[in-house]
Amino acid sequence: MIILLIAFCSGTYFADHNLLQGEEIVESSFFKKGSKGEEFDMSVHFKNVESQKIKDSFEKVWNRYQSLHKYEITLVQQSIGNSTMQAQPIITLRSLFDGVKRYRINIGHHVRDEESLVLEKLPEPILIGWFAHELGHVMDYQQHSNLSMIRYGFKYYFSERFKKTVEHAADYIAIANGFQDEVLATKQFILGDERISPTYKSRIKRYYLPENQVMVCSEDKEMLEPYYNL
Ligand SMILES: [Zn+2]
Repeated sequence: MIILLIAFCSGTYFADHNLLQGEEIVESSFFKKGSKGEEFDMSVHFKNVESQKIKDSFEKVWNRYQSLHKYEITLVQQSIGNSTMQAQPIITLRSLFDGVKRYRINIGHHVRDEESLVLEKLPEPILIGWFAHELGHVMDYQQHSNLSMIRYGFKYYFSERFKKTVEHAADYIAIANGFQDEVLATKQFILGDERISPTYKSRIKRYYLPENQVMVCSEDKEMLEPYYNL
């Protein structure tokens, strides 16, 4: 019961083990060009994602995060309230024991609650920067066991300092993987577009890596050292 309560607070996605059964999941075509018989868990899955542009942008980012290729990752498009994208570990009772790690990235249909900013209409570099940040989170998550991810989520929910550290780390990881221009494009878009609410902008300023830091760390390899080989 306590674990369930913590999990609820932490934003961890608790799922039935057969999450993907009976749902319309479109597997990535990424590996179809190559050899047949790729492992089920070595690809990206899409749920409710219609836009080819979104799928292509996501695959481009995922392709560069080599160490994530051994996990099943599902991109789900659905309404997600006051956020635009979120990365979650999929935790099941079984996975707490067998240790199998799976992840999902939830994306909304538009930028936060601004309906005029439809996600699939955003320029590709902005989408790529956003996905690079979210998969940066997954790169961070994969270092932790499923059980410790529950504790991680709990800390994220209750500790502002931890939240800031984790959000900065996701950007550092994205930059270490060569996405500095796209991460910057996404930040400039969020902070610069007048259709985005001041509340969202101030949240971004409060928790996320500042624009000038993106530039600084792109040129300072030492700062990125801990994030190169995750
Ligand atoms: Zn984030």
